This record gives sequence, C-alpha cells and structure tokens, in this order.
Amino acid sequence: MRAFIGIGLPPECRRAIAEAVFPLRAKRPAVSWTSEPNLHVTLKFLGQIPPERVDEIGSLLAETARGFGPFEFSVEGPGGFPALRAPRVLWIGIREPLELVGKLHENMENALSGAGFPREERRFHPHITVGRVRDRLPPGWWEEYAKALSGKSFGVVGVSSFQLYESRLSPGGAAYCVLRDVPLLREPANPGREEKGK
Ligand code: ATP
Ligand code: MG
Repeated sequence: MRAFIGIGLPPECRRAIAEAVFPLRAKRPAVSWTSEPNLHVTLKFLGQIPPERVDEIGSLLAETARGFGPFEFSVEGPGGFPALRAPRVLWIGIREPLELVGKLHENMENALSGAGFPREERRFHPHITVGRVRDRLPPGWWEEYAKALSGKSFGVVGVSSFQLYESRLSPGGAAYCVLRDVPLLREPANPGREEKGK
C-alpha cells in the first residue's frame, strides 16, 4: 500500500483555502488542484509499504512524538516550488515560532531511516500543496496567484496528533485514509508517580 505521514487540517481551514483558491481556476491554468478533503501538511512520504508493517511504523511514530505536546500553527502565505515565479507546486505555508513541525519531522527521519526508509535529501519546508502545475501557465499568472493568497490567514490550527495515511491513487484523484492517528502527549515528568496510591 502507498503510505505517507501528514498533519490533517480541520474543515474550516480547508474550506478557507478552497474558497480563496477557487477564483484562480477562472483562467483555466494547467493546474491540478488539491481537492478540499485532501489538503494537509506532508511530514514524510513513505511510498509502498507492506500492510503488515503498519503496526511497527505506528509504534515508531508514537516514539517520534515523545516530548511533544499539542501546539498551534497559523496557515498563511503563498509559495511555489521551485520558485513562486516559475512554480511546479503551488502551496500555502504554515507559521509557528518554535518550528515544532520541523523538529517532529527530524525525529521522524531519524526513527524511520533506522527502519529502512531513506532520508529525504531536500531541506524540509512544511507546506500545504494546493495545486500541481501540469503545463505552461498563462504569462504573469503567478502574480495573480500570489496576490489572491497573500496577506490572508486561513486560520490557526491546533495540532494534537498527526496521521499515518494510506493514499489510494485513481484516475479521479488520490483518496487518503487514516491508518493510525498518533497523539502528541507531553509525558508527565515522572510517569510512575501518578500510579501511587491507586
Ligand atoms: P496524485 O499523485 O494523484 O496527484 P497525491 O499527490 O495527493 O495525489 P500521493 O502521490 O499518494 O497523492 O502523495 C501523498 C503525499 O505524499 C502528498 O503530500 C505528496 O505531496 C507526497 N509525496 C508523494 N510523492 C512524493 C515523493 N516522491 N517525495 C516526497 N513527497 C511525496
Ligand atoms: Mg502525488
């Protein structure tokens, strides 16, 4: 099965993004737009995994989450890979002062590389993919895109877990399904203590 790890977004945030992106479709640019339910922050793409490894990967992910409590990020700022002026991937960024998503990703790379999943070579830049460019864009269209999405907030998202997803590809687009929900639980300083007296 095809699998990846990501942070799902609440419906209000996905709605706000979809509404802002919708008018950009008017000129029919050669972009395949991410469907509203699929909007997410990717943490790591795993590719094909044997279904019998889901439990093992789930346990590794629970380890990588250790020490992280719930946190928030704000969703804002359009971008493009490799560049906003000549994008292949259109995205919206996230902002959080402590860069916890980056730290979570680093933990994940460390744990998963030990389990045979190669490290991503490129620098991690957390983002929400809103579209993938399929062909030449109308001249100057990127400016319209940048203008339409700049200076807007698409919400502040509370993150209390992340997800291991299966991605089922089909001609109609990918369908994601949550295989494991991994909670962010700040552990008590002394886990044994709470048990006393029970
Ligand atoms: P489609 O491929 O049909 O456009 P999709 O990209 O949403 O749909 P997947 O290709 O299964 O579905 O990707 C799932 C997630 O993993 C997405 O966030 C995608 O950007 C990311 N991803 C896919 N392939 C790679 C890759 N080779 N390297 C890094 N991330 C990837
Ligand atoms: Mg893809």
